[in-house]
Amino acid sequence: MRINPMRPMMAILRMARRVRFPDEGLTAAAEAAFRLASRNVGAIMLWERRDPLEPHLRSEGEIIDAEVRPALLETLFFVGAPYHDGAVYIQEDKIYRAGCVLPLSENFELAAHYGTRHRAAAGITERSDAVAVVVSEERGTVTAVEEGRIIPVASYEELAAWLNARLRGGEEDSKSRRQYLQEAIRHNWRVKLIVLAAVIALWAVAFNQRENPRDFFTTLAQGVEETFEVPVVYYNLPEGLALDKNRLNKIRVRLKGRRDVLNFLDEGKIRVSINLQNEGAGEVQRTISFRDITLPSGVHLTGAEPPQIRIQLDKIPPKPDSGM
Ligand code: ATP
Ligand code: MG
Repeated sequence: MRINPMRPMMAILRMARRVRFPDEGLTAAAEAAFRLASRNVGAIMLWERRDPLEPHLRSEGEIIDAEVRPALLETLFFVGAPYHDGAVYIQEDKIYRAGCVLPLSENFELAAHYGTRHRAAAGITERSDAVAVVVSEERGTVTAVEEGRIIPVASYEELAAWLNARLRGGEEDSKSRRQYLQEAIRHNWRVKLIVLAAVIALWAVAFNQRENPRDFFTTLAQGVEETFEVPVVYYNLPEGLALDKNRLNKIRVRLKGRRDVLNFLDEGKIRVSINLQNEGAGEVQRTISFRDITLPSGVHLTGAEPPQIRIQLDKIPPKPDSGM
């Protein structure tokens, strides 16, 4: 497992950054939404605010990285165009991605006439602080979506004003960049402090892992225990002896190891192998030990149920003479 300690740090820095949405981009989107609606062309436009959206996408679509222009939005949502069936994902002044598949809302309180397009916009805005605009293909209507709520919007002016209020709030605009950063740092400071401590701890562990992988595994994962049912195989049966018909063919073994290793353990490949070499007729009793089982490195046997195997080895009676 490779840990990249920069990822959570980058996420925190992104949350603290100031996001700027130029007015032209918002009016361009509002214009495009009503033009699409007048032709009953479905669309979802999504604005990322401070919460990174990529982790929530069911499919990331493709990078467009172009300025927000009405004509480009209309082209992307053109019926039959490759990006029609997905959301356009806007970051600040850019259409960052198109063709994005969003997580659907499971809110049963949404009106029944809202299908998957509207539920997708509700889903992503429930999981993040993003806002979305949806154009309905069926009804030719426009809705604005925030925090999972779908709000009908009657006109271009109303939508432009709504986007402006959400994404370019007057209050935020009047603050200096420094004030904004200070507030972003102070907001939820306890949580941030805990996250920061966790990042530093993980960083130290990851560093330690690189320097000394064995120590890392013993400190981070003393191990979890799990029980597996595995086959018992008897081998090196001496000639002239027969295996007990009632012999035990499966045994439950308790294994201890790193969770990730145990999760991916192929039970079919583990077996308890009983060496019968040098055994004679009669009852053989064997306590299962680590010598009887081959395990991946870092996994140990801590017990077996039953802990002992008893097996009866009988002499094969000599074949009756065929008389020839
Ligand atoms: P409309 O009012 O436009 O009919 P709707 O809310 O009734 O929308 P559907 O009729 O189910 O929803 O629309 C299906 C279309 O919605 C799909 O063809 C696709 O373009 C879009 N869509 C569906 N699911 C998603 C999703 N998870 N992410 C992005 N777009 C989606
Ligand atoms: Mg529909």
